Amino acid sequence: MSVLIFCDAHDGKPAKSAYEAVTYGAQLAAQTGGEAVAVTFGNLNNEDLAALGKFGASKVLVAKNVTHMEGSVLAKLVENAAQSTGAKIIVFSHDNTGKSVAPLVSAKLNAGMAPSALELPETGDGFVVKCNAFSGKAYAHYEITTDVKIISLLPNSFKKVEKDGQAAVEELAFDPGASRITVKEVKRTEGTINLPEADLVVSAGRGMKGPENWGMVEDLAKALGAATACSRPVSDMGWRPHHEHVGQTGLAIRPNLYIAIGISGAIQHLAGVNGSKVIVVINKDPEAPFFKAADYGIVGDAFEVLPKLIEAAKQFSAN
Ligand SMILES: Cc1cc2nc3c(=O)[nH]c(=O)nc-3n(C[C@H](O)[C@H](O)[C@H](O)COP(=O)(O)OP(=O)(O)OC[C@H]3O[C@@H](n4cnc5c(N)ncnc54)[C@H](O)[C@@H]3O)c2cc1C
Repeated sequence: MSVLIFCDAHDGKPAKSAYEAVTYGAQLAAQTGGEAVAVTFGNLNNEDLAALGKFGASKVLVAKNVTHMEGSVLAKLVENAAQSTGAKIIVFSHDNTGKSVAPLVSAKLNAGMAPSALELPETGDGFVVKCNAFSGKAYAHYEITTDVKIISLLPNSFKKVEKDGQAAVEELAFDPGASRITVKEVKRTEGTINLPEADLVVSAGRGMKGPENWGMVEDLAKALGAATACSRPVSDMGWRPHHEHVGQTGLAIRPNLYIAIGISGAIQHLAGVNGSKVIVVINKDPEAPFFKAADYGIVGDAFEVLPKLIEAAKQFSAN
């Protein structure tokens, strides 16, 4: 069963999530006996595209004339690629792009969809995919019974595997047709690590007292090479931009390391971060609920602990 993998791209390169999705799709193709074909868009260089072969893609289809992320156009691109390759399984990453494109393709192709997958499906008796549910509080096992099957893989839940190999790159002559939406302008925040893709995240809450104290949070993040995040009240009060707010009503993230400074650990906050591999909590209140979810905890005043941590992180990265 051939597997088609949609790869998002930013700044002329495949997105980090694309490598995980290709590894997943290639292992799924090996499991179900087909080839793994990636499809992407934009002005990427052929070397970067061929390098997706290291993660298991045998072929990469690219529509270089599609330059903006526009859901209905990307959905049409994936439909075309699925038809031309005869793929019966389509893999997306469950990131912002995947979340907007996968359901459109699912509706168009009448394909059952398992959102937020955590593992390869069980294909012995039916086609059953284990997925994240209720903001990581439960698992759901979905059986997809349609001919074409769609899976969106939760970022940071499947380890990318790199080996030798090059994929054949084919440019797609793709006509996006008339779109009902025109992208007028795309503004991106510069110089920061993309939060949903970050391996390390330094996050802070109301315990930091005010925006004027965020320099310490940024210094620690910089010393570790981490992205920054915050609790909801912090962004509601305008101390930090809303795209940094994590939780039930913000971004759900699964970094390898999540450092929470002066955050109480309310369930609505935990809902967005409890999939993190290692959680470190810094809070002056030993009874703060976040300590129950922590792998490591520091009971102390952030204004005393942070300068020491920043110093230690700088020394560590200098060695
Ligand atoms: C429908 C709904 C959705 C919500 N969605 C979200 C969401 O997506 N994300 C989210 O974050 N919240 C969300 N909330 C809000 C959530 O319930 C909490 O109010 C919020 O997470 C608390 O933020 P906080 O921990 O920064 O602040 P606080 O609750 O005020 O906690 C501050 C913490 O800092 C500690 N502290 C204070 N001073 C220091 C110091 N000097 N050093 C170290 N520690 C210190 C305190 O002990 C305390 O634990 C939602 C609420 C509702 C009702």
